[in-house]
Amino acid sequence: MSAQTERTAIYPGSFDPITKGHEDIVRRALGFVDRVRVAVAHRRTQKKDGLFPIAKRIELIRQSFADEPRVSVGEFEGLLVDFAQRSGARLIIRGLRAVSDFEYEFQMALMNRQLWPEVETVFLAPDARYSFLSASLVREIASLRGDVSDFVSPHVLDALNERFGAAAT
Ligand code: ADP
Repeated sequence: MSAQTERTAIYPGSFDPITKGHEDIVRRALGFVDRVRVAVAHRRTQKKDGLFPIAKRIELIRQSFADEPRVSVGEFEGLLVDFAQRSGARLIIRGLRAVSDFEYEFQMALMNRQLWPEVETVFLAPDARYSFLSASLVREIASLRGDVSDFVSPHVLDALNERFGAAAT
């Protein structure tokens, strides 16, 4: 397929760190798009840096998809629609967990459409095993030395153990 007709989707988020829920959404998206560009959002103005620096988050995402040449990783600052336009992508992928995600996601989708009428947001439901999972929950459990091995890939678990000291695996 030529670059012109290839369908690329952007999957934006903070990915601090990438979880099996995120990985599941990317692999589902690959079922109907040619390429997924995972986009790590960051704000220079943000006081709090999060758990992992952006470069580490990107490295972990790359490792998650080392077997998948159709996945690329980038970072963006500023408006998502500007980044999408620059990447030649008119599709935004978002994961929907519970009803609690819906209001914010719906608002964002409509705002992004207002900013760039050609963009479409596609919502995907993860495997039920990950429907209650969030990166913030993983960070919290890992910081308390809890076992998060069901929720993150082994290389992410290693990074968490390194960050917090050996946790239960
Ligand atoms: P989190 O909310 O876990 O910190 P992000 O801000 O990185 O994650 O979210 C990026 C996108 O991935 C959002 O659309 C979010 O709803 C989705 N997402 C995060 N975790 C999951 C999951 N377990 N299942 C499905 N979608 C998810």
